[in-house]
Amino acid sequence: MTKANKERILAFLDKEYSDAKGELEYTKDYELLIAVVLSAQSTDVAVNNVTRKLFAKYPTFESLLNVKEAQFAAYFKTLGLYRNKAKHVYNLIHLLNEHHNGVVPSAKEELLKLPGVGVKTANVVRAELFNIPEIAVDTHVSRIARRLGFAKFSDDVTIIEAKLRKVLPKERYIKTHHQMIHFGRYFCKAQSPLCKKCPLVDICKEPNKKL
Ligand code: SF4
Repeated sequence: MTKANKERILAFLDKEYSDAKGELEYTKDYELLIAVVLSAQSTDVAVNNVTRKLFAKYPTFESLLNVKEAQFAAYFKTLGLYRNKAKHVYNLIHLLNEHHNGVVPSAKEELLKLPGVGVKTANVVRAELFNIPEIAVDTHVSRIARRLGFAKFSDDVTIIEAKLRKVLPKERYIKTHHQMIHFGRYFCKAQSPLCKKCPLVDICKEPNKKL
């Protein structure tokens, strides 16, 4: 990744996705945490459809403590891995209650102890709730980082995160994360990227995929 290419990519992202932000709906800290846990292998739209109903029916943390695992599963049925997600959310709510008084912790090591919370989820929560500079590497960020040359195609998410941290200014971590997700979700899609319209085609390592 040359400095000139990096600057071109960041300028493009700033121009096209100046107001990119997370698309999961929430009003309370624990609602975001639940939504992010539910978003594994599911779209934000699908998660929002589920959480809108769940949080309307159970609008407080205390009310969620009365929901049984099977009831969560019924709400999550339209999502992939819904049985596992129901188990995670059930345990998550109770653990959050017992160890954190129902308040989502900001420390990564505490978040990682919660059921269903991996590094990506912890990073999303820390960035979104606490404005802590983190880069959550999801499927979109991985793909964009590889295609635009921030990382190699053989790199796993841990290496991609480390490489992005090294090359991006810290104050850009959160913004660039959202911008890469938007670019990946709506333009540089996995199966049918809009390469013919892409101003970064000369930088790209995988242009014209499946065109
Ligand atoms: S050329 Fe195509 S694959 Fe490459 S970054 Fe642009 S849209 Fe994505």
